[in-house]
Order: sequence, then structure tokens, then C-alpha cells
Amino acid sequence: MNRRVLVLALPLIASVALVGWAAGWFVPTESKVTELAPGVWFRKAQTEPFTGCNQGWVEFKEFVLVIDANFPGQAEQVIEIIRKQTDKPIRFVFDTHHHGDHADGNMHYAKVGASAVASERSQPLFETKGLEGFQQAQASGKEEYKGLHYHAPSVYFPHKMVIDDGEQRVELLHFGHGHTMGDAVAWLPKHGILFTGDACVNGAFNYMGDGDTASWIAVLAEMQELPVKQVAPGHGELSDKELLETQKRYFVELRAAVQKAIDAGRTVDQIKQEIDLPWYEEWAGVDVKKNTENIEHVYGELTRK
Ligand SMILES: [Zn+2]
Repeated sequence: MNRRVLVLALPLIASVALVGWAAGWFVPTESKVTELAPGVWFRKAQTEPFTGCNQGWVEFKEFVLVIDANFPGQAEQVIEIIRKQTDKPIRFVFDTHHHGDHADGNMHYAKVGASAVASERSQPLFETKGLEGFQQAQASGKEEYKGLHYHAPSVYFPHKMVIDDGEQRVELLHFGHGHTMGDAVAWLPKHGILFTGDACVNGAFNYMGDGDTASWIAVLAEMQELPVKQVAPGHGELSDKELLETQKRYFVELRAAVQKAIDAGRTVDQIKQEIDLPWYEEWAGVDVKKNTENIEHVYGELTRK
């Protein structure tokens, strides 16, 4: 099999996926691993049904850095994939934010000797909401959580942390409050690759519960200042710099549409029924009305005194 594209699925689906990937089709029913640059890997997680977050890993001269831990079960799978590629130790797992589908697998990385790293502004979230989410998942009896303990990051950085061995350079960057207060991204300046976590997703995956859309727009604008070639989003297909603009457009247009409706005296329930952003459906594949939580969230932001 082509070393650059390792598809983890049944042979038939794999061949369809390879053709689909080459043609740029959306293939939601599987996970696949792609080498984006020498030693830089991207694993697009299956989105239907939802299995977890996209991940990356970077092979340095002496160790491996993983980008996002994912759920525990997915973490185990990814560690297995990496173990087949290299004997180098996994030294760091960078959690882009505290959500369980990005960080609950930390313990599996700890077991193989890796330290979890995150932005300092995410620390209070790991200690509260992150912990609660983990405990809830465990209490619900999920198999993959059995026998695990919550493992928050132990290495925190204020705005920037650089890992550079002369061959690979990864900059972990916190720009401000986006998807969560503590979001950070992994920027690989030598390759022009940006791993965004959920600060940028490709499709109908935006969760705003911990977000601030006004600040999120500014965070995306800062990312656009980087000479990005490829965007590896937190969920959905790999893309290019244009995705940052597309992601931003959703927040800008959603805010504008909700504001317009508020100005016209519409209630939140009316807005949920009436809002129309045909452009969104073209991008995300679903009607913007479907995500009522996001409409409510933006309505709350715009009416909060
Ligand atoms: Zn998230």
C-alpha cells in the first residue's frame, strides 16, 4: 500500500475511499491516515457515526509529538499505528483543548511515557469541565473508560511553546478565546501546516457551548496571518487555508442573521425557525437551522447585557 495513504478500513471501502479522497469527496464513514509532509501525519477520524477527533503526529529526530489525545479507545488505536511506524518514544501529547473527544485519552499516552501539554488558559477547564466530562463518561459505563483515571496535562504554556530539533519545528500557539477559552493550535512553519483542533472544523461540527463567537472570529483572523498551506481541522476533511475563511464566515453570517432578526423584533424561537443561510448548507451539508444550540448561543451572546 502507498506509504502516504494508509486507509484503515475494509479493502472495498478502502479503494472507494482512495478514489474518493483523490477526487476530494467527503468520506465520513471511516478513519484514514495521510502523511502531509515527511514525518508529519494526519488521521482524519470517522465522522459517521462520530468516533472522535482528528489527530496528528510529528516525528522528530528522537521522539514523537501527538496532536490531540482523542477518546481513550481512539488513543489506543493511534498509539498502535505510531508503534508500527517508529520505535521512537511518544514524548508529548498536545491537547488543543479540554473536551473529552480531544483529551480523555491522555492516560494511554501517559502509560507510554508521554506528557500531556496544553495552553495555560485551559488549565482551569481541564480541572473542572474536563474532569466532569470524563467522570460522566466513566459513570455511564462506557467500555473504553473502564479502569482509567482522569489525566489532565502537566505541561502548560502561556501563549507559545516551541518544539524544534533542527529538523522539525512545531509551535503551539494560543491566540485567545475561540471554541474554548484555552484553545491552542499546532503550527508547523516549515511545512505550512496548521493543526487547529476545534478552533476550525470542516463541516457541521461546530460546538459553541464553551465558545465566544466574536473572539473566535478574531482568533481565526490571527490564524489567517500565518502562511498556511494546509489546514488539518479538529473534525472533518483536511483542507487548505480557505477553510479558515469558511469557518469564520459561518460565525460572521450567523451573528449578522441573528442580529438582524433581533433588530426586527423576532424571538429566539422565531429565529430558530426562520433563519436561512443557504451558503452554510453548501459547505456543511446540513441546514443551518439544524444546529439550534448554536443559534441559541449566538442569540445569548448578542442579547446579553
Ligand atoms: Zn471541542
